[in-house]
Amino acid sequence: MANGIVYLVGSGPGDPGLVTLRAREIIGLAEVIVYDRLIAEGALSWARPDAELIYVGKLPDRHTLRQEEINQLLVQKAAEGRVVCRLKGGDPFVFGRGGEEALALLEAGLPFEVVPGVTAGIGGSAYAGIPVTHRSVATSVAFVTGHEDPTKAESGINWAGLATGTDTLVFYMGVSNLPLIVARLIEHGRPADTPAAVIERGTTPAQRVVTAPLHEIASRVEQADIRAPALILVGQVAGLREQLGWFDSRPLFGRRVLVTRTREQASALSERLRRLGAVPLELPLIEVQALDAYEALDAALDDMARFDWLVFTSANGVAAVRERLRARGLDTRDLRGPRVAAIGPGTAEPLEQIGVRVDLIPERFIAESLADGLEAQGMAGSRVLIARAEEAREVLPERLAAAGAEVIVAPCYRTAPRAGAGEELQVLLSEGRIDVATFASSSAVEAFAACVAPEGIGDALGGVAIACIGPVTAQTAEAHGLRVDVLPEEHTIPALIEALVAYCRGRD
Ligand code: SAH
Repeated sequence: MANGIVYLVGSGPGDPGLVTLRAREIIGLAEVIVYDRLIAEGALSWARPDAELIYVGKLPDRHTLRQEEINQLLVQKAAEGRVVCRLKGGDPFVFGRGGEEALALLEAGLPFEVVPGVTAGIGGSAYAGIPVTHRSVATSVAFVTGHEDPTKAESGINWAGLATGTDTLVFYMGVSNLPLIVARLIEHGRPADTPAAVIERGTTPAQRVVTAPLHEIASRVEQADIRAPALILVGQVAGLREQLGWFDSRPLFGRRVLVTRTREQASALSERLRRLGAVPLELPLIEVQALDAYEALDAALDDMARFDWLVFTSANGVAAVRERLRARGLDTRDLRGPRVAAIGPGTAEPLEQIGVRVDLIPERFIAESLADGLEAQGMAGSRVLIARAEEAREVLPERLAAAGAEVIVAPCYRTAPRAGAGEELQVLLSEGRIDVATFASSSAVEAFAACVAPEGIGDALGGVAIACIGPVTAQTAEAHGLRVDVLPEEHTIPALIEALVAYCRGRD
């Protein structure tokens, strides 16, 4: 009983990165979360698994009644002694009815705390590249409800005061009233050519912004079919967006990019995509599995000195060898002897990280080029250990053997389709939620093709663009009837992303 409390928590305007530390903390400890429609994306994933989640998203027509019900619900849950998070969009005290809820709790003698959030008027404006105040341009800003019926005679809004007395005006809940808001402002003395902006779903990957002089903004918004939630911003500062717009102008803004790499490898790619404005959809199609036995690798690790070359063809191979060393009570000192080759920078990097210097990286990051590079070092009579996946193309060992090397292939891991990935992929595809699918290995392509209806792969994919890291992956894709849209010259993740940016730019 003594523990009952309600936290009135703002979750910011949409971008989960704008949720405060305190809000996240409360979401994580609450026993009950009473939440609205416009809360930050993914915020509920921070809830305790046993938390009771109650949706009270408002129906526009039943506003008053619903709010009383919500107040009652909060009172009831807190009176039962539960820790309640009342989770809202933006800030709870800015058009959030947090004040009413706080008063209801006060009346019931129940404790509450307020966790402010970034209000849409601040967050949305910032992500639209519009500073709400700006030296010598705007020295005051007002947050105004646009929800009020502007035709009614007794307006609660002081139009005359707003139109001329405040530099920047930010209207919430006003899109459907936009023509009337504009008329009122102009009628009360705001110049018709004042810059204005309407910001739809600000701070999210779906953000859209329309700018125009005040007298044209309503028709432009109608043309663009802007919908709620949106803000209307009126003032000279709206003109700064042209120079300061930074969020929705990023090269991959809003593109939903499927990342099919294993969970271990996905995050680096996802992070790069996110920085460019894309929405990474991580759906590992394959997973790395341990082998039952490692005879060839174990035998080699016990006597590395007899090899001239130790060759890695993937970061997974590096991780597997490191793990095998550890499991056998060895460490990287026991790799002494052979020179080390890596197929590309993505494989070399984890080696350098564990203190193994890489002596050879081929010109192009495919097996054929690695074979060229090794052959150039002279293979006749040399002993080569290749640490790789159980199943892989044989081109490298075959060519080195043909060049006179004694080649030992040591399988260190296997990749297999991840259970459940197929169903997740089908959901994303059927909802049309993927713009681009990326593939960094043939095995991911194989798994993808197996998940998507093999007969009608083209139909199932619709407009999804396909991006492959290199020619081998691309060949596998084409063999499955996929049209490859993005193929970088250099076969690395950064180059793949660069090629993707160029592709998207071409399609804008
Ligand atoms: N308490 C919230 C406001 C709730 S009123 C806050 O502080 O932000 C709901 C209105 O907020 C919407 O009609 C819209 O005008 C605005 N809004 C909320 N999220 C928004 C977003 N991501 N982009 C643009 N406007 C938003």
